[in-house]
Amino acid sequence: MSDVVFPAAAELLAGLAEYVAIPSDSRSASPQTMRAAADWLAARLSWAAGRVEETDGFPVVRAEWLGAPGAPTVLVYGHYDVQPTGDLAEWRTPPFELVVDGEVVRGRGVTDDKGPVLLVLEMARAVLAQRGTLPVNVKFLIEGEEEIGSPHLPAHVRAHAAELAADLVISADGAMWRPGEPSIAIASKGLVGLDVVVTGAAEDLHSGRYGGTVANPVHALASILAGLHTPDGRVAVPGFYDGVDELSPQRRAEIDAVRFDEEGYRASLGVPELFGEAGYGTLHRLWERPTLEVNGLTAGGKYTVIPHRAVGHVSCRLVGRQDPDRVAAAVAAHVAALAPPGVRVEVRVDEGRVPAYRIEPGHPAVTAAREALAEVYPGQEVLLAVIAGTLPATTLFESALGARTLFFSFATADEKHHAPNEFLRIRRLGEGMRAWAALWDRLASWTPATCIPDGAAR
Ligand SMILES: [Zn+2]
Repeated sequence: MSDVVFPAAAELLAGLAEYVAIPSDSRSASPQTMRAAADWLAARLSWAAGRVEETDGFPVVRAEWLGAPGAPTVLVYGHYDVQPTGDLAEWRTPPFELVVDGEVVRGRGVTDDKGPVLLVLEMARAVLAQRGTLPVNVKFLIEGEEEIGSPHLPAHVRAHAAELAADLVISADGAMWRPGEPSIAIASKGLVGLDVVVTGAAEDLHSGRYGGTVANPVHALASILAGLHTPDGRVAVPGFYDGVDELSPQRRAEIDAVRFDEEGYRASLGVPELFGEAGYGTLHRLWERPTLEVNGLTAGGKYTVIPHRAVGHVSCRLVGRQDPDRVAAAVAAHVAALAPPGVRVEVRVDEGRVPAYRIEPGHPAVTAAREALAEVYPGQEVLLAVIAGTLPATTLFESALGARTLFFSFATADEKHHAPNEFLRIRRLGEGMRAWAALWDRLASWTPATCIPDGAAR
């Protein structure tokens, strides 16, 4: 890709500053603000007929450039919405102001996902301007509701499946695992959440006048939650591990070969000791094993009552062929079996259940991505990692478009996604533009048939 000169970081940052200044927090922003972010992005895509299209929620930005007949078509996915700021007092710089701070820029959305999307647009614009053409046909779908679970994306994608058809989806959302080496995520975990609701009396009771006469919902909830794991960290729910393949010796060896500073990881988290399912190392657990975590408890407080209700918020991260509905049902059945006398116990499963996703490590797109990264990061091993988080759009693209998704993001997992003081390494902008261009050049040399997602063509 030496034939193309990409915009300098300063030029990209000027654009990113405008984009970050639009506070497109999909949880609390007005429709006008969300629309302004979509309009801004669509204008940057004018070279590809960029436009804003309505959904039943916040609009999507769509665009396409189809001037490479016979070449494969890629659909670039990302999102223009951002997470809430959280506690403003924890921000060291104003969240909706792009601030250059040494080798990084700060601001809400810089790494998730405004910077990683913008660099693709600017790369494509530069290639088109200088070569007069792009190596592949390109479509864009940038949504405004990713951070709230993409509630209206499925309807839009299904209704426009023919227009969105592509040989491959490339997600600009996601993240490299670590700053020091290039990596490609080949999988993301699924997700199902639920509440365990334990109810006792009709209202809170004075703990003196009634204590000892009724079951306490907090005690009941605690004993139920304690029964969700065995002492050695395994999930105790019968059937929970259905659809989870045991780690193959090859995958185990691959992971064991990853340079990983376990002590540094422990220290960075501030925990006295790492802990997890027995029989697995930290990276095995992080990448290849499903988990069940209690995320919070809602009950009573520091006053002398027997609370009438206690709620445990639980989420499961899934792998392999675990079925979110069956996992939720298995947890509900186990909770029912653990319910102590004297209280009513109910499980409420969240909407938005997402299965795990995986692209074959040998898929042509993964190979092309590895080569592209090797070009930008010469001499460095390209790691095949796993996004231990969840990207619901992947399974949607698979079912609605029949297309696999390649994660190709130039965010890095430590850049405080969703947290105060979100940042992006400035060098990733240039690296990302070069790598995306190298990727597209490599994808061009395949006939679309080899990009067909089911792997049958290989
Ligand atoms: Zn994101």
